[in-house]
Amino acid sequence: MNKASEYLQSADSVESLEITRLVDLMISDAIESGASDIHIEPWDASLVVRIRLNGVLQELLHLPVELMEKVGGRLKVMANLVSYEMDRPQEGHAQTGQEMGGVELRMSFFPVVRGNHQGGVLRGEKIVIRIFDPNRRSFNLDDLGFEAPTLDTMKQLLSKPSGMILFTGPTGSGKTTAIYAALTHLVEKHGPAISISTVEDPVEYNLPMISQAQIHHAKEFTYPVALRSLMRQDPQVIMVGEIRDAETANIAVQAGLTGHLVISTIHSGSTAGVFARMINMKIEPFLLASSVIGVLGLRLIRTTCPYCAQPYQPEVSYQKLIPDTLLEEASLRNGGGCEHCAGTGFSGQASVTEMLEVDETMREAIMDKLPTRKLQDIAIERGMKTLWQAGIERVIRGETPLEEIIRSIPTDK
Ligand SMILES: [Zn+2]
Repeated sequence: MNKASEYLQSADSVESLEITRLVDLMISDAIESGASDIHIEPWDASLVVRIRLNGVLQELLHLPVELMEKVGGRLKVMANLVSYEMDRPQEGHAQTGQEMGGVELRMSFFPVVRGNHQGGVLRGEKIVIRIFDPNRRSFNLDDLGFEAPTLDTMKQLLSKPSGMILFTGPTGSGKTTAIYAALTHLVEKHGPAISISTVEDPVEYNLPMISQAQIHHAKEFTYPVALRSLMRQDPQVIMVGEIRDAETANIAVQAGLTGHLVISTIHSGSTAGVFARMINMKIEPFLLASSVIGVLGLRLIRTTCPYCAQPYQPEVSYQKLIPDTLLEEASLRNGGGCEHCAGTGFSGQASVTEMLEVDETMREAIMDKLPTRKLQDIAIERGMKTLWQAGIERVIRGETPLEEIIRSIPTDK
C-alpha cells in the first residue's frame, strides 16, 4: 500500500489529518512509482487522486471530498499561487525538497462543477501536476522496447564519428525519449572524453555531461543562429531538436559532412519520406546522400497488461490484416482489464520501429532523387522491416492486440 493511503487510514478523523503531510506523501508516492503526472479531481463522493504510469491513469487513493479546498490550497501555496482562488484557471510550479529529489512539479488548476449526492452543486477544481524528475529519469536505449535488429543498428550508427541520424514520427511517438537515450548511450560509452551539445526547443530534461541550449525566438536565438555558433564550440556530437527549415537543414547536413555526428528529428509522413522532405528544403541530393547514415521511424504502442492477458480473436475483417501463415502460429492476446492496469488491459508502452540504414545502394537511389515509394521499396529489399510488419510481429507474439497496431501504425498498402 502507498504511504498516503496508510497515513489516511491511520488518522482518527478527517479533521486530525495534517494536509501538508498528506500532500507530501501523495507526491512522494507518485514520484517513487515513476509516475509522469498526478490528477486530483472531485468525483461523486470523493476526491480521487490518480497517477499516470506508462501513459495510463491509475487510482492512487480516494480522499474525503471535504478535503478538496485544503489539498488544492496547500498545492497553490507550494506553487506561489492565490490559495483561495478556485473560480479561474491557475498555473504554477514548485520544486520538491532534496529528500524527494528536488523534482520539478508543474501544476495546473482548472475550475469544475458537479452535482453532489445531496442534490447541491459542488464547486471544485481539477488539479493536474506534471512531474519532471531531472535526476531519476533514466534514458536507456535498451529499455525503449526497440526490436533487437534496430537496437543493434542504432548502436552501430552511434559509434560512427560523423554523419547524420534522423528520427521521424508524429507527436507522441517517443522521438525525444529515443534521442535522449541515444545521447545517454554516448555519454555512458565515452564518459568525459566526448563533447556533446544540443540545441532544443524546449529542453525537456537535463542530461548529465551534455551542454544543452534552449532556443529563444523572441531574442532571435533561433536554430540556425544557435547552430552556427555551436560549430565554433568544437562539439563531436550535435543534437538538433527539430529540423523544420531550410537553413537549419543546410547547417545540419554540412555538420554531418564535416566530422560531426548529428542527431535530429524531422517531420515526415514516412521514414523513407525524410529524403524528399530534405530535398524540398533545398538540400542537394548528393550532400544528403553523403550526410545521412540512417533514419529511424518510430511509433509508440501500448503493451498488454501481463496480469489480465488472455487469448482472444480479433473481429474477422481485422484478422485478414494478418498473413494466414503467421495467423496459424499466432498466440493473440489482449488484456481483459484488472486492478493492475486500472481496467484498461494495457500496462507499459513500447516503441515500434522502422530502421532505414543508408548503404551504398540507398545512397545512389537518394542521389538519383528517386520518389519516396521507390526508396521505401529499395529499403525493404535491403532488409528493412516496416513499422506495420514490426507491429504485426508484436501482435503475433501476444505483446499487444491487433487493434492497438491498427490504431497507431499506418498499413503498408
Ligand atoms: Zn490488467
